[in-house]
Amino acid sequence: MPDSIITRYENVKNRINQACLNAERPPESVRLLAVSKTKPIEDIQELAQHGQSAFGENYLQEALEKIALLPNAEWHFIGPIQSNKTKPIAENFQWVHSIDRLKIAQRLSAQRPENLPPLQVLLEVNISQEPSKAGFTPHEILEIAPQISELPNLQLRGLMAIPQPAKTFEEQKKPFAAMRQLLQKLQETLPNHSIDTLSMGMSGDLEAAIYEGATIVRIGTDIFGARDYSNKES
Ligand SMILES: *Cc1c(COP(=O)(O)O)cnc(C)c1O
Repeated sequence: MPDSIITRYENVKNRINQACLNAERPPESVRLLAVSKTKPIEDIQELAQHGQSAFGENYLQEALEKIALLPNAEWHFIGPIQSNKTKPIAENFQWVHSIDRLKIAQRLSAQRPENLPPLQVLLEVNISQEPSKAGFTPHEILEIAPQISELPNLQLRGLMAIPQPAKTFEEQKKPFAAMRQLLQKLQETLPNHSIDTLSMGMSGDLEAAIYEGATIVRIGTDIFGARDYSNKES
């Protein structure tokens, strides 16, 4: 019989705690974002009842249906953002990890309802400099971040990356170390902003990410099991 979601979840939390010990970091310094894309609401509710508070989604329509059923969870948008979809994102999420254009940030700020706290945002970095991937280059980050930090209804919190998969711990650490250094430069560029977040590390490389300073790890497969993408919008 396959492990239950709760067993898998506890295993992931143990891995995070162990990785924090190895990195000599306090376990509270890393948050677990449960990436629930393509997974049914029942699985998400089960985890929420077990104490998980934050969920990450990539596909807007699917996410909105889940948010309506579980409005008290903290919802993070982590997928690609088309500019005609910014309004429902601004209205329904607490966090957005995947800002890859200034225009998207401007629209999210303009469309964030005034009765909600500022949308917490991260800039996506194409840290492995892959031509086909979304995200700013490290150089662009330092140019664009001051403009984004001025937008009234956003709070710029830091950076997110999805590096190229690598097999060994040593290889996995390299892009994460580059992210750590980039966050430090960003903090020096914007000393009066609460820039404190590095969203990096997934099921296969969370240990290396935590070693290099991740403060949010985004875990899907190792909690919910493999994803089935048949009949999926994108
Ligand atoms: C799907 C996804 C994840 C989770 O990846 P797993 O390997 O399943 O843990 C994390 N981050 C982003 C941006 C994703 O799209």
